[in-house]
Amino acid sequence: MIFDLLIVGGGINGCAIARDAAGRGLSVRLVEQQDLASGTSSASTKLIHGGLRYLELYEFRLVHEALAERELLLAAAPHIIWPLKFVLPHEKGLRPVWMLRLGLFLYDHLARRKRLEGSHMVSLKGNALGAPLRDSYNVGFTYADCWVEDSRLVVMNALDAKERGATISVGARLTQARRENGRWLATLEDGTQLEARALVNAAGPWVSQVIEDALHVPARKHVRLVKGSHLVTRKLYDGPHAYILQNPDGRIVFAIPYEQDFTLIGTTDVPYAGAPGVVGISEVETEYLLDSINHFLRTPVTRDDIVWSYAGLRPLYDDGALNASVVTRDYAFDLDAPDGLAPALSIFGGKITTARRLAEHALDDLAPFLPPHGASWTAEGVFPGGEASFEEVVAKLESEKPFLGPALIHRLARAYGARAERFLKQAHAIEDLGRDFGGGLTEAELSYLIENEWARKADDVLWRRSKLGLHMSAEEQRALRDYMDAPSPRNAGRGLG
Ligand SMILES: Cc1cc2nc3c(=O)[nH]c(=O)nc-3n(C[C@H](O)[C@H](O)[C@H](O)COP(=O)(O)OP(=O)(O)OC[C@H]3O[C@@H](n4cnc5c(N)ncnc54)[C@H](O)[C@@H]3O)c2cc1C
Repeated sequence: MIFDLLIVGGGINGCAIARDAAGRGLSVRLVEQQDLASGTSSASTKLIHGGLRYLELYEFRLVHEALAERELLLAAAPHIIWPLKFVLPHEKGLRPVWMLRLGLFLYDHLARRKRLEGSHMVSLKGNALGAPLRDSYNVGFTYADCWVEDSRLVVMNALDAKERGATISVGARLTQARRENGRWLATLEDGTQLEARALVNAAGPWVSQVIEDALHVPARKHVRLVKGSHLVTRKLYDGPHAYILQNPDGRIVFAIPYEQDFTLIGTTDVPYAGAPGVVGISEVETEYLLDSINHFLRTPVTRDDIVWSYAGLRPLYDDGALNASVVTRDYAFDLDAPDGLAPALSIFGGKITTARRLAEHALDDLAPFLPPHGASWTAEGVFPGGEASFEEVVAKLESEKPFLGPALIHRLARAYGARAERFLKQAHAIEDLGRDFGGGLTEAELSYLIENEWARKADDVLWRRSKLGLHMSAEEQRALRDYMDAPSPRNAGRGLG
């Protein structure tokens, strides 16, 4: 079979392009070398946001596009995306009040907004929003952005793509590709050969490596890797709101309620010169994030409060900026199609927030090389599970499956939305869901993840399809690993869908 589109990389950008293209009637094959979202797309701050700070960098195009995406994505995936209120304390000696007001005015008005609240100035004294902060913070501002379960959004893109006809392969690394007879002939690590009319290089931090080592096409643009790390601590304050904290170095750090019992703190901007791969937080970054949070919070946060950390590499388009914090966060394409030959489109940068729009732009650029196909459709499309609101799913589960209990209903409604019933349908008692692996993970849910969401290893389940890694004991996690690694018919043939 000759595919219209071969996509390299199962992060947010690759999966968003696969979804869009499949929905337009194109034949699509996506290859991901490891697990979906195993690269940067599970290591973000998990915000669908315009990026208040990018206004200072005059990134108006990006901020406008990102702001407009917030409400659209909120409607399309109400299970994994929800509004999040931010509190921005005013810090004497840093950005003056007029500047914050101006920035938030632009933020409020750069794109249309229906559901998300606009910004307000608030007194932090005698206000629950100011309670965890030191006494020196008298006033602040509030505004709204959205939270997103980043790795689940990637998987929901892949699932939608699959249901529209795409083939998604995990554990499938592209090693070489060359043009032959006006098409791309690609070879995967296991020797599989694939033919495609057009190739999309959405390899994120590996984008330049794929250009140079696999495609052997001229590299006109380059990636700039900037590491960003997060700490997860015990819950540091009550309330569903997040803080956006201004650091004396001009950067900002977020503190966000996380997974009910925790607080997420991040991030950093550290230039990264090594080869792309798994990265971790450094001592210096840990110190930096603790210093930042302790500058604001009344009760000191120490290393003993840290329960987990993660880090990722931003695959930014190298615009030549001197400082890692000011490299453009906007995306850029490099289209290689000499003399109208089969095109290779390489993608640099991009946000979780803007992946849907990035996909539309990518398909616009590739359209002349592809067979006739449908128009853009994703602005109206709903993600799998987003067919009902979170509240509707919770109410249905409460009435039909009360044996699950409030905590599990909440988790399943958030993770799967209306799709939860696919593996709950037959159950009339908790025992009907099979073995309990801990944290509320049952055999029925696990089988659903293996059969429908490309989960192959325990880490896929613990850290990307869910964050159960934070809620299951070491022993429970070991037992899950043993179960998933055991040879069985259940585990055969995983990875293709
Ligand atoms: C610290 C941090 C915080 C962030 N916060 C936010 C935020 O709050 N909101 C937001 O919108 N954005 C945020 N971002 C940006 C966003 O996370 C990234 O821009 C986005 O995830 C990049 O997605 P991608 O698909 O390009 O790359 P990736 O997610 O890395 O995907 C690329 C994939 O390609 C695969 N691959 C590579 N080579 C091959 C090959 N040869 N064959 C097959 N597969 C291959 C990799 O395994 C990988 O899975 C943040 C980024 C960082 C680092």
